[in-house]
Amino acid sequence: MFIHYRTQGIILKKVDRGEADQLFTIYTKDFGKLEILGKAIRKIKSKLRGGAEIFYLSEIEFIQGKTHKTLTDAILINNFKNLRKDLKRLAISYKISEVLDDLVREQEPDEKIWQLLLETFIKLNNLQLTTYNLIYYYFFWNLLSILGYQPELYNCSLCQKILFPEKLYFFPKEGGIICNNCYQKIKSEEKEIKEIEINTIKILRILLKRDWPILKKLKIDPKTQKSLKEISNFYFSYLHSILMI
Ligand SMILES: [Zn+2]
Repeated sequence: MFIHYRTQGIILKKVDRGEADQLFTIYTKDFGKLEILGKAIRKIKSKLRGGAEIFYLSEIEFIQGKTHKTLTDAILINNFKNLRKDLKRLAISYKISEVLDDLVREQEPDEKIWQLLLETFIKLNNLQLTTYNLIYYYFFWNLLSILGYQPELYNCSLCQKILFPEKLYFFPKEGGIICNNCYQKIKSEEKEIKEIEINTIKILRILLKRDWPILKKLKIDPKTQKSLKEISNFYFSYLHSILMI
């Protein structure tokens, strides 16, 4: 007899396998990230189809076999239908799913990540933000914070002095922003440093405070938007390289 495990999950990925199977990557409330095989799920008669679609929140049930987990039930809770009506929202959903899949290990349950993921999908589905992209950065930076990589944004990560508006730099190895004075001392030896605008630092602070009343009203100019993107990609590459070792 197999034990049947039940939990809620958001389906992040699906890949076709064989004739009619699909392999799902699901972030679950009780077990963290899981890979679960949907057997014969591509057949029209499969009862699993109604609850196992990408970016669905579903109540799922699975069994643990010798080599893999098999999906035995999937009941839809929320299909986040606006994500599918809007290419921008859909693109952000894919980015969220990729970053989560990349930075989080399998079978490590984390209630905070689960809550953040759920909140992010609900907001992405419901909010009429002028810049949807902010929701991606909201997820990205708060995920890093939960994983223990929240950057220092108030004091220089090297000399500890309070930061003030001058030329400032993001130095992932030291875990945050550094002042111009410290930058001048180490720039010849350290390559993995990037200049960061004060406006970008301010946005990161608000994102990490999870302050939605302010976030909803933020108007971000294209220059800061570009800078936010560059810093996020820069930090992601750095973390990706250290986590892969
Ligand atoms: Zn300093």
